[in-house]
Amino acid sequence: MGLVVHKYGGSSVGSPEKIGLVAEKIHAVRKEGKDVVVVVSAMEGDTDRLIRLAHEITPEPKEREMDMLLSSGERVTIALLTMALESLGCPAVSLTGRQVGIITDSAHTRARIKEIQADRIRDSIQEGKVAVVAGFQGIDESSNVTTLGRGGSDTTAVAIAAALDAELCVIHTDVDGVYTTDPNLVPKARRIDRISFDEMLEMASLGANVLQTRSVEFGKKYSIPILVKSTFQDGPGTLVTTEDEAMEQVLVSGVPFDTNQAKVTITGIPDKPGVAAKIFGSISDRGVVVDMIIQNVGESGLTDLSFTVPKTDAQVALKITKELAKEIGAKEAILDDRIVKVSIVGVGMRSHGGVAAKMFSTLAREEVNIMMISTSEIKISCVIEAKNTEKAVGALHEAFGLNQSETN
Ligand code: ADP
Ligand code: MG
Repeated sequence: MGLVVHKYGGSSVGSPEKIGLVAEKIHAVRKEGKDVVVVVSAMEGDTDRLIRLAHEITPEPKEREMDMLLSSGERVTIALLTMALESLGCPAVSLTGRQVGIITDSAHTRARIKEIQADRIRDSIQEGKVAVVAGFQGIDESSNVTTLGRGGSDTTAVAIAAALDAELCVIHTDVDGVYTTDPNLVPKARRIDRISFDEMLEMASLGANVLQTRSVEFGKKYSIPILVKSTFQDGPGTLVTTEDEAMEQVLVSGVPFDTNQAKVTITGIPDKPGVAAKIFGSISDRGVVVDMIIQNVGESGLTDLSFTVPKTDAQVALKITKELAKEIGAKEAILDDRIVKVSIVGVGMRSHGGVAAKMFSTLAREEVNIMMISTSEIKISCVIEAKNTEKAVGALHEAFGLNQSETN
């Protein structure tokens, strides 16, 4: 008998009525004779409410305590959903991350799964019960509660599917699949039928947060197909799977954008060896991950250096950079958080030239200034002013033939 893992996100379990609906859907799959493991997130808005509570207590809560606090949200939903299933006559049991044996590293608030023991899930299946597992959480080797970062329940679901050798992991959310770009920004965005793991990895890490990047990594590594579907309407959804020839023929598959970026610039840096090493060494020592970097050498022998970091780390990065600017005799350090990173992604870029030129000329035509550029085999990213996001994404979406009822 086949085993499937079904994940339901926060908006899908946001009220008792919705939890009831999810229970009915799971019951229906059970009645088809499939073994089902369910992973759920906290109720929509709950995590934000808990974060606000913490900040009413202290401006800088310890990350260990944040994890303890935030992990409570999923306890609520696993219990409620299990009650709903049982009241439909569908035997079920709720399990926390600890009970499932989801072992992570100790990086609180952004932990990575190292191992899933899953014995309790196997036992539940044996007993004919639906295991309802708390997403987003695990424990480290000292039994501290950890959480996996925004979107972490996606990763819990795919990692469990891998551990149990499931045939499929279905991610249920509030959109009916993965779109060429965020359908909430671009109404002409189009649902993608099938997308390769590599493209989805790029899409997710460049801002399409419909799936957490780590979940796609697990899917790729353990060859678990991921089906993204709507909780509320029927439809084929999007299958994330191994690349095939048809996928390669599409030049650009999507235009993801990332609004969670900030740019730090240090001006008037004396142009001598070792300065960049010093700056980026200090920043990475504080656990801040730098994304894009650009350096301009001026005529006077002074240089400007800009780099981007996640918005959440911007103040830390600015503080370090200000201190260093003084130390190395640079002019000043400035923060700009009104930026966005817009990207185009497609495996077809491997074998086609001229894609970058088309991206730049499209942005130029819209009078969108490009501040930074980075490329890899299957993606090109540009940092632009945040106020131009909609215009830039819309224009690129159209230029690469992604608008609804067009093909490329
Ligand atoms: P859940 O609570 O179910 O995990 P998320 O909010 O994490 O839901 O993910 C769904 C949201 O992802 C959508 O509502 C949509 O706004 C956003 N999104 C961003 N980019 C894309 C994309 N390319 N395709 C689909 N959804 C996207
Ligand atoms: Mg999500």
